[in-house]
Order: sequence, then structure tokens, then C-alpha cells
Amino acid sequence: MSANPADAVAACLGGIDRELARVLGACLDGRELSWQDAVSLQSARGRELLALCVVADELRLRQAGDEVTYVVNRNINFTNVCVKTCQFCAFSRDLRSEEGYLLDPAEIVRRALEAQAVGATEICLQAGLPPTLRGRLYIDLCETLTREAPGLHLHAFSPEEVKYGATRARMSIHDYLAALRDAGLGSLPGTSAEILDDALRQRIAPGRISTAEWVEVIRTAHALGLPTTSTMMFGHVETVEQRMRHMDLLRSIQKETGGFTEFVPLSFVHHEAPMFVKATQPGVSPGPTGDDVIRLYATARLMLGATFRNIQASWVKEGARVAQWLLSCGVNDLGGTLINESISTSAGAGHGQLMTPATLRRLIRDAGRTPAQRNTRYEILRRFDGAAELDPVEPLDGVTDPEAFGSYRALVADPRFRYRDESRPE
Ligand code: SF4
Repeated sequence: MSANPADAVAACLGGIDRELARVLGACLDGRELSWQDAVSLQSARGRELLALCVVADELRLRQAGDEVTYVVNRNINFTNVCVKTCQFCAFSRDLRSEEGYLLDPAEIVRRALEAQAVGATEICLQAGLPPTLRGRLYIDLCETLTREAPGLHLHAFSPEEVKYGATRARMSIHDYLAALRDAGLGSLPGTSAEILDDALRQRIAPGRISTAEWVEVIRTAHALGLPTTSTMMFGHVETVEQRMRHMDLLRSIQKETGGFTEFVPLSFVHHEAPMFVKATQPGVSPGPTGDDVIRLYATARLMLGATFRNIQASWVKEGARVAQWLLSCGVNDLGGTLINESISTSAGAGHGQLMTPATLRRLIRDAGRTPAQRNTRYEILRRFDGAAELDPVEPLDGVTDPEAFGSYRALVADPRFRYRDESRPE
């Protein structure tokens, strides 16, 4: 036994696999982690997993400091009617479904203003792809929201939606994105990525945007001054090699454009996902295990931290408790309050649709870190470096009913929002 207790503690991690220790040591030395070495880290278990987390935490401290950020925002998933049949999606409905809904622009504006009144700085618009979509609808929505709810950042339209809107409007991706930007769009969610591997995409979502098209939308958005997030859905049928190559591709784009604001790993929610429920994909998994989530997030910090800076934990997918633990595994952002969350909720996620700012700050402080409210572009709006008792009480903090702003369940049952062909007069 070591005479020095500190040496004894250090020795606990000293016995880990030598090759794994070499890879982790190179990361601490500032060397770039190749996707192949990142694959080798996926065998980390037990103390080796803890060592991976310690290194991810150290890099997080160097790259992003001790603050943990969040944004006060609202999701508006304005229709669930969609022409695609992605096998992981439990949100979409067919045009003829009695559960198909569509929010009209007046209702979208009402929801945006309601969010602004309780402190939101961002509206996130994402939805299904209705067969009757007017090509200019997304552009018109941006113009309407910019006019009616000035001051709110519009974070909207995945690459899949951009491609669909541009196709319906008979415009190029470039011209469509430029029109969205000129109409007030501030940034795009980098969703519809899942795993950027065409063979796998064909399996789980035939007809979905291809890898090259996704990259084209993202690169074009960045070139036009529209930042985007970046995501990866994992824990379904993909291999660890496909995960690491996905992150490697994102890193290469980021080196070229610098336009990604953050990386958000998204655990597959299996409960209602068609490919799980109907067992259409051999070997589909019921989402990642807890250790798999932790390994992935810690590896994301090692691979992407130097170029992305921000690694975001999704409390919607992971729940508040796991999201809090991820703060010690490389994460420096907890995402948004969301207010309404329909996509994961419809897939069976049970972590709610609203997280109050006070709850986010409690999780952050209890992890030994400093909460800070940011805007969509990661500019700090407020730091909370005093005691919790000194925090201002915000309107959202008083919301105790998680469905105070409505719910997916209520939406699909509400006759006022029944889907209709919005391209035709009533
Ligand atoms: S993931 Fe999006 S594009 Fe695919 S079916 Fe669901 S709503 Fe439609």
C-alpha cells in the first residue's frame, strides 16, 4: 500500500489498460483523437470508463470552463403530418389520420408571444413534412414571427425540412436558405442527421435526406451566416464505427466552417418507435445503456471539444439525473427549457416537456458548477454565481403543472387544430 493517500487514489486509475491510457494521455497532451482511436475507447468499462470521464472532464474545464449554460426556449412542432416514414419516428401521422394536426400561423404566433412573456429568448420550430406544403410556408412563417414577435430568435427547420421546402418552392438550397435568413431565420437545428451513413439511413429511414444532401444544407447555411447545431441519434442499429465516423465528419465540417454551435448526442427512444415495436430491423436495440450514454458523451468531448467547445446533454432523452451526471463527463450545456416537447414524448420518453430555469440551475449547482443563461448563439445573458436564494424568481419557475402550456396528447385530440390542406382556402 502507498504511504501517501493521494498516491493511493492516483493508483486506482493507474491500473487501467495501457493502450487506453496512451490514448487518453495523448488527448490530455492536446493531440487530436482519430475516429479509430475513439472506437478503441468504446471498450472502456468500470475504472476505465471512469478514467475516460476524468479526462473528458479535464478537457471540458480547459475548453469551456466551469459554467454550465442553458437557454430559455419553446418548441413549436407545428404539424405532425408527414410524407416520410422514418422507422424511428413515433411522432408523424398520415394525412388521413384522425390524430393529424396543424397549427395555423396565428396559433404559432400566439405560442411564441406566450413564451416570450415568460422569458423565452428562442423559438424552435420543427415539424413533419405535410404532402400539401406550400413551398414558401417556412419563409412566410419566419416573416410573420419576425413581425409579430420581434426579439425572439428563430431557430428552425432541419436540413430535411429545408430540402423539402426548397423542392416544393422550386428553389435551390442556397436561395431557399438565403430567403429564410432574409425573412428572419436566426439558426437551424442540425437534426435529421441520425447517423450520417447512407447504407444505414436506407435501412432505418428510406427516402430520408442523404448524407451528401445533409452536408450540403449545413455547409450552405454556415456560408450564409446561419449557424446550426449538430446531432447524432445513437443506440439503435448502428455500430460504434458508424458513430465515430459520424462525429469525424462533423468535425471536418466544423474545421472548415466553424458554424456548429454545439454537438448534441440523442439517445434512441425505442418505446413507440415503429422499428422497435414492429421489430422491422433485426438487432434493433432498446436504446443505449447508461454506461453507453456516458462513454459516448465523454468520447464526444475528446473528439469534438477542441473545435465545437459546446457539448450539450439532452435532458429530454436522458432525464434530469443522467443529464446532471453527464456534466462530469464532458458536458457544458443543458439545452433548453423547451416548454413543449412532442417528438420524444410521442416516442415514449418519460422525462417531461418542460424544465424550469430554477430546476436547471439546481442540477448545475449540485454538480459543483456555475449556471449561466445563454442565447442561441451561446452569448451569456446572465450568470448565477451567487447562492440560489439570490436568484431572481422567473415566470417559468412558478409553473408546477407540466402541461400548463398544453401537451402533445391535448394537441392531437383538439378539433381546432385538425389537419387540413393549408395550401387551399377553407
Ligand atoms: S422523423 Fe421527421 S421526416 Fe421522419 S417521419 Fe418523423 S416527422 Fe417525418
